[in-house]
Amino acid sequence: MSSKRDYYEVLGVAKSASDDEIKKAFRKLARQYHPDVNRDDPKAAEAKFKEINEAYEVLSDTERRRQYDQFGHAAFDAASGGGQGGFGGFGGFGGGAGGFGDIFDMFFGQAGFGGRPTGPERGADLRYDMELPFEQAAFGLETEIQVPRTEDCPACHGSGAAPGTHPETCPNCRGTGQTQVVQNTPFGRMVNVKTCDRCRGEGKIVHTPCPECSGRGKVRQRRRIKIKIPPGVDTGSRLRVAHEGEAGARGGPPGDLYVYIFVKAHKLFTRENDDVICEVPISIVQAALGDEIEVPTLDGQVQVRIPEGTQSGTTLRLKDKGIPHLRGHGRGDQHIRIKVVTPKKLNDRQRELLREFARLGGEDVNPEEKGFFKKVKDAFGV
Ligand SMILES: [Zn+2]
Ligand SMILES: [Zn+2]
Repeated sequence: MSSKRDYYEVLGVAKSASDDEIKKAFRKLARQYHPDVNRDDPKAAEAKFKEINEAYEVLSDTERRRQYDQFGHAAFDAASGGGQGGFGGFGGFGGGAGGFGDIFDMFFGQAGFGGRPTGPERGADLRYDMELPFEQAAFGLETEIQVPRTEDCPACHGSGAAPGTHPETCPNCRGTGQTQVVQNTPFGRMVNVKTCDRCRGEGKIVHTPCPECSGRGKVRQRRRIKIKIPPGVDTGSRLRVAHEGEAGARGGPPGDLYVYIFVKAHKLFTRENDDVICEVPISIVQAALGDEIEVPTLDGQVQVRIPEGTQSGTTLRLKDKGIPHLRGHGRGDQHIRIKVVTPKKLNDRQRELLREFARLGGEDVNPEEKGFFKKVKDAFGV
């Protein structure tokens, strides 16, 4: 466990990093190491991707980050037994708990309090990784996902007793799941609380087990769950769907389901916060003379005027054509980055015309170039 890298190091941020910096670092790395874009070494990318995810999961949660700052990886070792589940997979969060049981074990020896908690217990949280196309992340969607989870057995309603029968309250512990042994020791009277042997802490005894679940009271289900993704989510967004996690134990409530969003790269657009960046190539003729061109946006094609004399690298802004803000109203902008493309293949006539063009321009064919060479002269005295 000590071989784990420091979470801050994994995300490449300082210990003092703000939530925003952590989110930005995570998004950048998640894009970089997404198994989809690392086809030459997907194993290494996946391992890295998981490591990034795990670090973000802790550092993006105020409470867990505080614990990590205080105790390091040891804060979660006890809780996070199983693997985190790969991409598109599932993994429990481990629930927390732990901790105190061990201390009681030390005082009381043997099983003590430690083993099984006897009261109602909340179900574990579940995680679902969801990959979205760029447009769907921008505009949101309602969809159904399939989540494998543990639910109360529908045949026995979670009691574990065959239909028509009922679990009986354990006579040994009167349903508490615990027995007390009072001992006189040199330190005084000690009350040793033990898990009831007869019902193993359940407080109930099933005589005829339910055939559907073999008396466990729980079954694995692939549950279809409707979810609503709001417009404006990005890689790193996390949605909580209350009470859709694993079933609780002994009448406890179910855990929550967390949907983690990953946004796929787009062929034309990149995203900067809520702005959309799109590079558009134009010819030297369009750049020089100006033109009216069609530009793709999230809302479809839009006519844009290229002014006469546009330089390569110029950015034109389309207001409110970006991503809707996740919280609050309005949208980001779209930035069109103009790239002037120099023609590579010319025929003789075109070459001739360009030379003619240069001759006509005479000394003034490229005033900026002249300025540039004057600067060179000034700088180096050549
Ligand atoms: Zn059952
Ligand atoms: Zn009992």
